Amino acid sequence: MAKNGRIKAIQTALESGKTSCTELTRQYLDAIRKNESLNAYISITDETAIETAGIVDAKLARGEKLSALEGVPFSLKDNISTTGLETSCASEMLNGYKPSYDAFVWDIFKSANAPLLGKANMDEFAMGSTCETSRTGGAKNPYNTEYVPGGSSGGSASAVAANIAAYSIGSDTGGSVRQPASFCGLVGLKPTYGAVSRRGLIAYASSLDQIGVLAQSTADCAEVFRKIAVHDALDMTSTPFPAYEGGNAIKIGVAEEFFTGASADVYSALQNTIRVMEQITGNTVEIVKFPLLKYALPVYYIIACAEASSNLGRYDGIRYGRPAEAYEDIDDAISRVRSAGFGTEVQRRILLGAYVLSSGFFDAYYVKARELKQIMTYKLVNETLAGVDFLITPTAPATALKFGAKMSPVEMYLTDICTVTVNLTGLPAVSVPCGFDRNGMPIGAQIIGKRYSDFRLFELASKFEQATDSEFLTPLNGVNGMGVSL
Ligand code: GLN
Repeated sequence: MAKNGRIKAIQTALESGKTSCTELTRQYLDAIRKNESLNAYISITDETAIETAGIVDAKLARGEKLSALEGVPFSLKDNISTTGLETSCASEMLNGYKPSYDAFVWDIFKSANAPLLGKANMDEFAMGSTCETSRTGGAKNPYNTEYVPGGSSGGSASAVAANIAAYSIGSDTGGSVRQPASFCGLVGLKPTYGAVSRRGLIAYASSLDQIGVLAQSTADCAEVFRKIAVHDALDMTSTPFPAYEGGNAIKIGVAEEFFTGASADVYSALQNTIRVMEQITGNTVEIVKFPLLKYALPVYYIIACAEASSNLGRYDGIRYGRPAEAYEDIDDAISRVRSAGFGTEVQRRILLGAYVLSSGFFDAYYVKARELKQIMTYKLVNETLAGVDFLITPTAPATALKFGAKMSPVEMYLTDICTVTVNLTGLPAVSVPCGFDRNGMPIGAQIIGKRYSDFRLFELASKFEQATDSEFLTPLNGVNGMGVSL
């Protein structure tokens, strides 16, 4: 049986009086504490959640219908600004920092009366692929707590897979929504660049950052996306989302470049996915080419680090960050603040970024990377995707690693090979669960679409979900019944 999604299940239960919103929200908060060892949350926002639930209950008592997302408890990644509520980016630098303004998306959820359960764990400043660079230690994968949930939105994925949040809002700069979604058996969307306002999202690499959704089904993911795909005049990269006109017959392309390096289990799950896609669309897949994929990682890491080194310049203990207590001069003060406040991976990226932007190397690295980014976008859109609607690739070449597996930085960067091109080119992509590896860990398939084809992506993903009888999706009450059951 295909699922209508958790959001619908919750709203039906609320409207029929099966449970009150306050009762349900308390159940979620209790389940978070019962599963504290998952370390999915950095902070729990009981008061905000219960207060919102009270508003919803009052509305229900008046016999009013619930609007989209109303009463459905969720979590926000810890890099999304929430007035008066700690937003630490999982960094010592922002430990205890409470923003004085709200992110555009948080405003939307607040007006929708969606109870905020807490701020989800993540890699420090969203830099990483395992969630292990968090100042509080990484979140765990509910499928097997010896494994990582992926990153950087690892806490969001862990929480949704355990159903200690009905859905979660993450951010995706190079795969941080899609990769953890794939590691935790969830649906994860990286929207078209500009579709969701980045106002109030603490910046990592602004030209690549995009807010995305992690959910237990495509229905949930689509509903949340519909709510947040709103033009924001105060984010200059925000664009109005064009009306969806529906699609014709679907043609799918497969570019072999994305499959080199895939593990045997990922490879065979993807072969199966392609077969199912052929049945759904009634078309055989077309083999297409994207030879520029070999440049994706260097281009991504040069641009991401360059933008990060500029964006993170504000953490100097004067504008942001706790000031140094003892210092010799201003340089010494800033250096002390940054050495104490930033973890190793963040420091590495700031240094790499400063290097590629420095006068002697600017043309050789940064300018070249920007040019390649443009060429990659042109070629992907006008050549690879010219005769097809979507590309199917693995979301990641391998499944979740064990916690503490000591990957070198370069080994870690290599795992982003399938996801970063989507950010470099501004296209939308969704990761859908498509199987399990020999250890029972989830595998994700990535569907890449053309600009603004986000809703069409959901249509295809939903057909895939139905055709596979939802057998790869995380169960509604969470993996191993960890979370709230309705
Ligand atoms: N793993 C990638 C990185 O570390 C992507 C992170 C992200 O999307 N925020 O940069």
